This record gives sequence, structure tokens and C-alpha cells, in this order.
Amino acid sequence: MTTELSPDALTGLLDQARRDYQDLAGRGLSLDLTRGKPAPEQLDLSEDLLSLPGGRHTSADGTDVRNYGGLQGLPELREIFAGALQVPAAQLLAAGNSSLELMHDCLVHALLSVLPGVESRWVEQERIAFLCPVPGYDRHFALCERFGIDMIPVPMTAEGPDMDVVERLVAEDPAVKGIWCVPKYSNPDGVCYSDATVARLASMTTAAPDFRIFWDNAYAVHHLTDEPVAIADLLAACAEAGNPDRTFVFGSTSKITAAGAGVAFFGSSPANVQWLLGNNAKRSIGPDKVNQLRHVMFLQDAEGLQAHMERQRALLQPKFEAVARILDAELGGTGLATWTSPKGGYFVTLEVQDGCAKEVVRRAAEAGIVLTPAGATHPYGDDPRDAVIRIAPSYPGLAELEQAIAGLAVCVRLVGYEQRVR
Ligand code: PLP
Repeated sequence: MTTELSPDALTGLLDQARRDYQDLAGRGLSLDLTRGKPAPEQLDLSEDLLSLPGGRHTSADGTDVRNYGGLQGLPELREIFAGALQVPAAQLLAAGNSSLELMHDCLVHALLSVLPGVESRWVEQERIAFLCPVPGYDRHFALCERFGIDMIPVPMTAEGPDMDVVERLVAEDPAVKGIWCVPKYSNPDGVCYSDATVARLASMTTAAPDFRIFWDNAYAVHHLTDEPVAIADLLAACAEAGNPDRTFVFGSTSKITAAGAGVAFFGSSPANVQWLLGNNAKRSIGPDKVNQLRHVMFLQDAEGLQAHMERQRALLQPKFEAVARILDAELGGTGLATWTSPKGGYFVTLEVQDGCAKEVVRRAAEAGIVLTPAGATHPYGDDPRDAVIRIAPSYPGLAELEQAIAGLAVCVRLVGYEQRVR
């Protein structure tokens, strides 16, 4: 990432960055680029949800949605999402309001109750470890930390996790029980897993017979371009490879309809679905089917879902374009940073010079621009290169976002040139 500069040129650039930073800090900004939340205008797209289901209280098969029961969720809602999540509707569960909760529950159930295909529970093993492609989603890592599951970082490539590393680790260590994957428009680097990666995940030899891929397809329909990315069907590939129980698929409408007030999904093999349903039956007498019915009425079908996501894209795409434009104008050719241009999802990853990310985040905060803490994209909050910064462009308005990204670029120049002068 380094570009050769004469000492004089470098001093000139640093002086300019210092002046720009002083100017930035003097503006009294208060901007927030931390979490990938939908903007109010995105939530407004689903306003009609709030007046549904109107006077209706029966699902397609005549079930009264106001009453207990129906643990697997409404079949008609599962039909709408089956294609997007690449899970047959019969093997899909429509559950509560959060896919993260489902991931949490799957970990807890795997620890405390025996998974299909084995005889002992994870909690009986001396050590449990998960592979964590990095950069990744901080809440996945927080779940592992919460339950004492060791995390083993695996580098991401443009095609998904480095499969040479993954194959070696899962083959040699029976304590490795799982891997976190955000296979499409990954959080935070926007990577989409290639067909070859999916095939290798499905067919690799694992020392643990109860190894599970936590396939968090949170951004399955969240495209930002005219060329929606399609990924290979992992669940089908696992079944074909003779490993039908290997994958847990997760998804939700949090970034489709209402964040935290949508519907979450779990899909897997028939055996795993029965396993989760059995565990859920102890935990709940049924999901919120009123909310599920309202989603059916609002989205209608898979085409309705797609049309809704086009409206989401119309709001999000200009923000991602603004980030790319400003970073390009302010940092292009400096050699101080690289950044991703995701084709979907919610994040841009900015990579600064090694050893600079924390300082950039600190300087930005001092100037009133709050970013996700540096390191959050890595297990235990520790980015060994201290280089990755996650940018979440969705929530602020366009004008605020532009100010924030321009300000962030000033901080990258300041910290980057300071480091080079040292
Ligand atoms: N998975 C990923 C990869 C996410 O980025 C997020 C939210 O940012 C979630 C899951 C949370 O999903 P939910 O709202 O369904 O719990």
C-alpha cells in the first residue's frame, strides 16, 4: 500500500492533512457510521405492515393466527422465502423476530442437547472451536465468546474463506465444530462465496462428525446493482456430497421490512429441522403468526419480495455510490487505503495502513464522527494488523453521510502521513 514520496512532499501532505483535520474538528459534527441499521426512509417502505393484517386472522389453511401453535411457522410465508434462502419450504422454519436469536439458540442447543448423527453434546467435550473468517460479523464472535467457544480466524479471499486453511483445520482437529459464514455480500467486506468454495465446504472431510456450517444468509436479496449475485445452493450440495446435516441456514427480514420486528428463518436437513423443532417446543408454544401473516399479506410472493428489495436498493445505492466517489476522490492514488465496492449488503470495508485503524477511529471520534470500533471485525476484538475499518452507510441521510466519509478520509490522511513521517 505504500507510495514513495520525497521527505518534502510528505511533510507538505502531512501539513495539509493537519490543517484539514483542524478545520474538520472545528465544525462540531455529530455523525454516526457505526451500525448497519436501515434508514427511516427504508423502514417507511414497509409502513403498510403496521396496519396489517387488518381484520384478517386466518392463514391460508384456516389456522387462527391469534392462537398458540404452528411451531414451524406459516407455510405460505416459508414458500415466499424458500427460493431466496435456497431451502425447500418443507425444510424451512419461520420463527421469531431475529435470526441472531436463532443462531444463539442453535449454539445453546448444540451445547446442551445431542445433534443428529452423534451421541454426545458439545458441552461434554473438553474444547469447542469455531472457524471465524475475518473480517467478519462482531455478533457472531460475541456469541462464541459468550459460550466459551474458541475462535480460530481464517483469512477471507475474494471467493470466501481461504478453503485450503479451512480444509486443513477441520480435517485435523475434532474440536472444530463449526464455521461462521455470511455467504452473500458478506458483513463487512461484501464478498460472495464462489461455487468452488461452496462445493468444498459441502464435501470437505471434517474430523468432527457433528460439524456445522452456520450459513448466515442475512443479505440474500440485498442487491445494490443490476446484476444480482447468485450463490450456489449449499444445502443441496451438502446433501449431494453425503453430508446432509452439515449446514444450518439463517436469514431474516430485518433489513427487508422492519429491523427487529420482522421474521427470522432457519433451514436445514429434515433431521436438523426436527432437532430444532423439538428443542423449540420446550422453549415456545408457537411463533408470532400474526406478524408472519402480515408479512405474507405485505410481500405477497417471491416477486413481491424482489420488487420490495428494488425499492430498498433505490434508497441504498446512492449512499454506497457516494462512499465510493468520495473515497476515490479523497484517497485514490495516495496509497493510504483500499476499500471494497460491494455489489450488495450493508457495508464497505476500508483497509488503512497496518497499525493505523484504531488511531483513525479515535481521531474521527474526536472530530464527531463515530465509527465501529477498530478490531470489531475480528475475534476478541483483535485485528492483528490494526488495519480494518467497517463503514455502515445505510442509516445517515445522504448529506450527512457525505460529510462523514469526507471527514473520515481526512483522518485517514492525517494518521497515514503521521505514520509515514515517523
Ligand atoms: N447476521 C448478519 C450477518 C448481520 O449483519 C445482522 C445484522 O446486522 C444479523 C445477522 C442480525 O439479524 P437479525 O436482525 O435477524 O437478528
